[in-house]
Amino acid sequence: MDKKLVSIRGAVTATNDVKSITDNTAKLVNCLFFKNALTNADVVNMTFSTTPDITAFYPARAAREAGYDVPLFSCVEPNIDGAVTGCIRVMITAWTEVEPFNKYIGLARKLRKDLTDAYSITLDGPSGAGKSTVAKLVSGKLGITYLDTGALYRALGLVVLRNGVGTKDAPNIEKCLKDVKVGIKYQNGSQAVFVGDEDVSNLIRTPEVSMAASDVSAVPYVRQKLLSVQRDAAADSPVILDGRDIGTVVLPNAEFKYYLTASAEVRARRRFDELTEKGQSVTYDGVLSDVNLRDKNDMSRAVAPLKRAYDAVEINSDGMTAAEVADRIIADVTGDM
Ligand code: C5P
Repeated sequence: MDKKLVSIRGAVTATNDVKSITDNTAKLVNCLFFKNALTNADVVNMTFSTTPDITAFYPARAAREAGYDVPLFSCVEPNIDGAVTGCIRVMITAWTEVEPFNKYIGLARKLRKDLTDAYSITLDGPSGAGKSTVAKLVSGKLGITYLDTGALYRALGLVVLRNGVGTKDAPNIEKCLKDVKVGIKYQNGSQAVFVGDEDVSNLIRTPEVSMAASDVSAVPYVRQKLLSVQRDAAADSPVILDGRDIGTVVLPNAEFKYYLTASAEVRARRRFDELTEKGQSVTYDGVLSDVNLRDKNDMSRAVAPLKRAYDAVEINSDGMTAAEVADRIIADVTGDM
């Protein structure tokens, strides 16, 4: 196919400090290069414009520092009443074989709704912080898909337990899971997890499977296997995903990122109430020590450990109801579109 000359557009918002401008410019330009399969040689020029509240010098410098050795130009836009503030826009003129992919990130989405693709919300945090309850509320109110990524790890934990393989025995876990197909189906609006043709949704919520999931999730092969399942779910439509590494690894360019925390005691109390309501016989102390152990596993593993993405908003839910947390997220997302 012949290459044609196109204009690729995008925008992002930042605060007027060097780090925020540099990080957000790099995020925007990296995303545009990746999505449009560009190399420096394809690019004729890259022009930035900023609203008057952003120092116009920095975006071009950030692009140069990020390795975009192409003709760069920056300018300041006139002040327009009611416009999005703290905005960095870019136009890239380039030769490409594919249709131009434009990207408006975060608050900048408002500028060009017509050019904006599906958005993703990431919700990471330790077990029991209330992620799944909040994600369900957000997905229901916004009418978007919810993917509970922990359920995928649980399904693989279940398979490992069933096969009598040690939950930390990486080589045998890989052998055992090699031909296993794990997937998601939506039935009456809720997510069902399948291993092959078997719906395992009701078998993965026990304390044994929780611990097995936490162990097997440290195995690099397991994380790699589940990466495409998660990314595919977010490819074409708006989605909220909850997990541990969604904002850092699975969808680093997501538009809206949150990190939900709560103290270990509050999380253990919530989990204890949830399990006893389901008729499982557990003690509060047992649940608390599981919560602490899983935190330790999740935060200390070598691959994709649980941590807040630098650009995720942290919400401590200790004194908040799930509905309040959900409303906080919905206000951001809808205020933004
Ligand atoms: O969230 P949930 O408690 O269902 O997750 C089960 C386990 O799966 C967690 O303890 C964690 O170790 C792992 N997990 C993960 N990455 C995710 C989601 C879950 O490592 N994105």
